[in-house]
Amino acid sequence: MLSNSLRDRDIASQLHPQTNLSLHEKTGPVVMASGQGVEITDTNGKTYIEGMSGLWCTALGLSESRLAEAATRQMGVLPYYQNFAHRATEPGIQLAETLLEIAPVPMSKVLFQSSGSEANDTAIKLVWYHFAAQGRPEKRKIIGRNRGYHGTSIASASITGLPHLHRDFHLPLPNFLHVTCPHFYREGKPDETEEQFSTRLANELDALIIAEGPDTVAAFFAEPAMGTGGAVMPPKGYFEKIQKVLKKHEVLLIADEVITGFGRTGNWWGCQTFGVEPDMITCAKALTAAYMPLSALLISEPVYQSMKAQSEKIGVFGHGYTYGAHPVACAVANEALRIYEEDGIIAGVAAKGAQLGGLLTPLADHPLVGEVRGTGLMWGIEIVADKVTRAPFDPARAIPAKVQEAAFAQGLVCRALGSAIAIAPPLVIRPDQIDAVHKRFSTALDQIADELG
Ligand code: PLP
Repeated sequence: MLSNSLRDRDIASQLHPQTNLSLHEKTGPVVMASGQGVEITDTNGKTYIEGMSGLWCTALGLSESRLAEAATRQMGVLPYYQNFAHRATEPGIQLAETLLEIAPVPMSKVLFQSSGSEANDTAIKLVWYHFAAQGRPEKRKIIGRNRGYHGTSIASASITGLPHLHRDFHLPLPNFLHVTCPHFYREGKPDETEEQFSTRLANELDALIIAEGPDTVAAFFAEPAMGTGGAVMPPKGYFEKIQKVLKKHEVLLIADEVITGFGRTGNWWGCQTFGVEPDMITCAKALTAAYMPLSALLISEPVYQSMKAQSEKIGVFGHGYTYGAHPVACAVANEALRIYEEDGIIAGVAAKGAQLGGLLTPLADHPLVGEVRGTGLMWGIEIVADKVTRAPFDPARAIPAKVQEAAFAQGLVCRALGSAIAIAPPLVIRPDQIDAVHKRFSTALDQIADELG
């Protein structure tokens, strides 16, 4: 029998990423119909606080008319032009200038793509180009971290350190290596301080680079704070120690600011919050507050000089996307960056983060919670089966997913990521809505604790 319901049409027609496809045939989708501020409403009329900013991206909520107007204006003037072969548009130039102005460390040039995955893919290519220009083409191995997330394209998924992004996709590609996740709660030893843990991880990185041969290792990718890995904050001293090792072996550091860029951790950049001094930066998501797809790759002057040398040698910088520097996306990004500044959005994250953190932190005493961690508006709640041993629940029981579903029923979108739950609301969330996030989440936790007995 044919059905016209959105549910049935979706099941019959659409593939959903990061979804159990077999289960989806039974459950169907929750179809979202409209958004207002930090709230999202489904086609049944139920409203939720979007406590994950979509995929960590709708920093300005879902009804910022200035962004819609910026897009409409640019559509009316010039809806598309490309930037291959000496062409440019004003919104792209403006955005590149602003990004260089606000960059956390001096950067030389900006290259635009449409997604975070593409930005990281491009970063890998430029790392390879850079060392090729230096006459060291064999320096090309890339190091990521277990639980790190850098995207889903073949190369960016290879840097990613999550097994389900690799399995049966023949990934990671050769020459992509991974080191221990800087997750003190999960990876730290009982007798170790955070600082000692950081030292151990820096030593591990040093040993790996030496074992592989420093002349073969090109770059290290890191999210300043890990998102998809479970909202994992770097342990004390981590980046300082890691950066010493990278400098010693002339390994480039690429900061993946796709989540942490534009205020998420309380500063413009996660690099500022956590003392990261990268050679390249990738960013996306809140760059346009997610109203248009756009990502940017910022590169340092030495990397730019290498690229220039390569294009002189080869005749052209042989890379680019049809929608790179899309003028409508750039116009929206320019407006988003103005709003962040003019409305004091990023300056406001500290107080909102303190409120949210102040409410969530005491949940560490809850029987299901091992740790609450976070900064700014990026928080992780570690769900444990045993608070003393820190043992997580058997993944087959999907307890964090059950908490997520219970919260959803309460009207809160949060996200189960491995053994943790992430909460990362839009930066424009109001204090009363932060209270509601906490209330709904605690109720969900209590419900699941009761069910477990
Ligand atoms: N890097 C990080 C840190 C991310 O969180 C993501 C997406 O969640 C990406 C890269 C990939 O971005 P996209 O999904 O736009 O390709």
